[in-house]
Amino acid sequence: MTTISGWGRYPIGDTEIISPRTADAARRATAAGDQAIARGNGRAYGDAAIGIRQTIALCHLNRMRAFDPTTGRVTVEAGLLLSDLITTFLPRGFFPYVVPGTDLITVGGAIAADIHGKNHHSEGGFGRYVDELLLALPTGEMLLASRDEHPDLFWATIGGMGLTGIILEATISLRPVETGWIRQRTIAADNLAAAITALQSCESVTYSVAWIDCLASGGRLGRSLIFLGEHAASDQLDEEQAVNRFPLRKPSLSIPIDLPYFVLNNWTVAAFNEFYFRSGARKSTSFTLLPVHSYFFPLDAIGNWNRIYGRRGFLQHQSVLPIKNAESTLAEMLDRIAQRGGSSFLAVLKKLSQGSGPLSFPMPGYTLALDFPIARDVFSFLDELDELVVAASGRLYLAKDARQLRATFEGGYPDMSSFRELRRTIDPGRRLQSRLAQRIGI
Ligand SMILES: Cc1cc2nc3c(=O)[nH]c(=O)nc-3n(C[C@H](O)[C@H](O)[C@H](O)COP(=O)(O)OP(=O)(O)OC[C@H]3O[C@@H](n4cnc5c(N)ncnc54)[C@H](O)[C@@H]3O)c2cc1C
Repeated sequence: MTTISGWGRYPIGDTEIISPRTADAARRATAAGDQAIARGNGRAYGDAAIGIRQTIALCHLNRMRAFDPTTGRVTVEAGLLLSDLITTFLPRGFFPYVVPGTDLITVGGAIAADIHGKNHHSEGGFGRYVDELLLALPTGEMLLASRDEHPDLFWATIGGMGLTGIILEATISLRPVETGWIRQRTIAADNLAAAITALQSCESVTYSVAWIDCLASGGRLGRSLIFLGEHAASDQLDEEQAVNRFPLRKPSLSIPIDLPYFVLNNWTVAAFNEFYFRSGARKSTSFTLLPVHSYFFPLDAIGNWNRIYGRRGFLQHQSVLPIKNAESTLAEMLDRIAQRGGSSFLAVLKKLSQGSGPLSFPMPGYTLALDFPIARDVFSFLDELDELVVAASGRLYLAKDARQLRATFEGGYPDMSSFRELRRTIDPGRRLQSRLAQRIGI
């Protein structure tokens, strides 16, 4: 037995790790699964990638199978990291259509969570760019699923959190890009209403995301910096950038130890937020060119940054709220956070559109992601936030969840009947089961 956790380091679970080296070995492991679940790179925050008894680690299935430069279609094994995909294809002028806030995730994990990026409002989620999946089912079958072949299984697997089978290979489409640079513009918003107006009015911009100062309150509640971005064309680079048209990822520094819990506190975070907001606001009239890694994956510059929260770990609360209820509910959530002593140290707001699969997280609305260090009262506080989310017809993101109650899940994902029926058909013996699925009763 091995003790593992997700990125938030809470909860931890004991599980037998099975590490197949071939697709057929993964198929056999799935057919013999004993309450097993797939694991990619373990970047889900909570217990989604922890099996009840077994965890099938896909990290060795990381080969690239085929690439068509005329269409940008690539077939890869599901354990391939997005970082390897980018390192290989960016210099050839291709980039994934959808990337999250880290590229240290696998293609299988990206599909199973139907991940969203900063362009969900304009271009949808990862699932939209998946053409075909090679799946291992609990019945021992290996089959191809696509929009035409086994479409129900295909869509349920996108966002299905590993519960519909193990993704062995995927064929996905990549986006042609002229450079590896992003042209960024920053907007400073003095409060939440201004931030929402800015995100709304920039809907035609490909990428947008707002960083919120969670410690601001009163008339400054929700003050934000909104980062807008477009892939830069070759003729938008200066001479130096043109020589380095596809910049490579820089080596990261690592946090060598778990920091004591008092390092992150309201004083240090307030000082940082003030500095960050002012320096962002100063840049707000000009365009800046950033390498893709700096724009999309700034946190990856610090390896093991989850150690900043200390040994007890941290929880991410990511909700999405439908447009009509978003502003008032977000204001109430931010107000409660600002009033609470131990605040959220990170808050990110993005606009989402419809998700792809029945269990996909996105819906048309606004998503707020908040990080909280684990502390005695944090669980009851987050239950309070959950009540606001469900009352506003919103839901929580399963890839970030470590603690929501069944009632919260049922309230947020009310139409689970077809997903559950499909699971009963393909997995009557419940060979596939994660701690997440057991906890919230998926
Ligand atoms: C710093 C950071 C930033 C992030 N930013 C974002 C963001 O902006 N947007 C976003 O959507 N997410 C974001 N995430 C979450 C992350 O993208 C997802 O949790 C993703 O699923 C992690 O992929 P993984 O390979 O690590 O999968 P794991 O964490 O190992 O697994 C996640 C889920 O995928 C399933 N799974 C994994 N591989 C397979 C497979 N081969 N077959 C079937 N099921 C499989 C697992 O069973 C589990 O349910 C972020 C995470 C971090 C740590």
